[in-house]
Amino acid sequence: MPDFVKSHTLLSPSGAFRWLRCALYCRVALSGEFRKHERPPGLAAIIGTEKHAIMESFFRRILPAAPPNPPESWLKEAWESSLERALLPESEADFLSEFLGSLAFSKDFLIEENLPIPGIFAGGVEQIVRGTVDLAFYYRDTETLKIIDWKFGRRKVLAHNNPQLSLYSKAAALKFAKPVKALEKFIVQPAITHCDKEEKLKPNFTQKVAAAYQGGQKAPATAGDWCEFCELQRLCPKYIKRERCSREIAPEFRKILADMEIK
Ligand code: SF4
Repeated sequence: MPDFVKSHTLLSPSGAFRWLRCALYCRVALSGEFRKHERPPGLAAIIGTEKHAIMESFFRRILPAAPPNPPESWLKEAWESSLERALLPESEADFLSEFLGSLAFSKDFLIEENLPIPGIFAGGVEQIVRGTVDLAFYYRDTETLKIIDWKFGRRKVLAHNNPQLSLYSKAAALKFAKPVKALEKFIVQPAITHCDKEEKLKPNFTQKVAAAYQGGQKAPATAGDWCEFCELQRLCPKYIKRERCSREIAPEFRKILADMEIK
């Protein structure tokens, strides 16, 4: 991705769970404050990135080389005999083998594709949002779109009502530019042998992804499950109140909190 785009992408699909629900988080993300406080990735994130790269390598190598009309089990067979399989722990490779056995090939595919996601308005303006789709297939015969998201962490993630997958689906549907009658979204977590799927027979890609931070300066901070990994925990009055922890507000955030009349 060009640096220009990177530097202007302040809302990411992976944080959508939070910025669609909490206006304070959305506001701080849009202010660019997170950039200044970015910490180097932890070990788990580095390992996850490496494993994503292994999957990317596999699909980039085999999908363009697929034979005409490959059998249903082709993806699984290709994985079983691949070099990449040997680079993952046995249990994770086995789980992926099982998953790939249920996934049919299509010549319309996306691999680690960084795509724009239009139509997201926050703070009164359309935001530049981009996301990287791990893997997607479009099946012309059934007009079905499948979105697959690898997660190599150990915390269980569900596909149901998952805004990250919804944003990826929207971006992929626009990229394929073909009618989509059915949508299947998958979260695949080899480390905990977990796969979750959400099916939509009539996908609506104009869903309320634009709901974030519409309320202007006084939009509320809303605490909930999405606070768990929020970077603002230590300074957020809502979180501090909810968790009854000690207060430690960083000076650079005081103005934002004051503007939003958050005490
Ligand atoms: S910790 Fe605060 S800012 Fe972060 S999501 Fe929760 S309520 Fe919003």
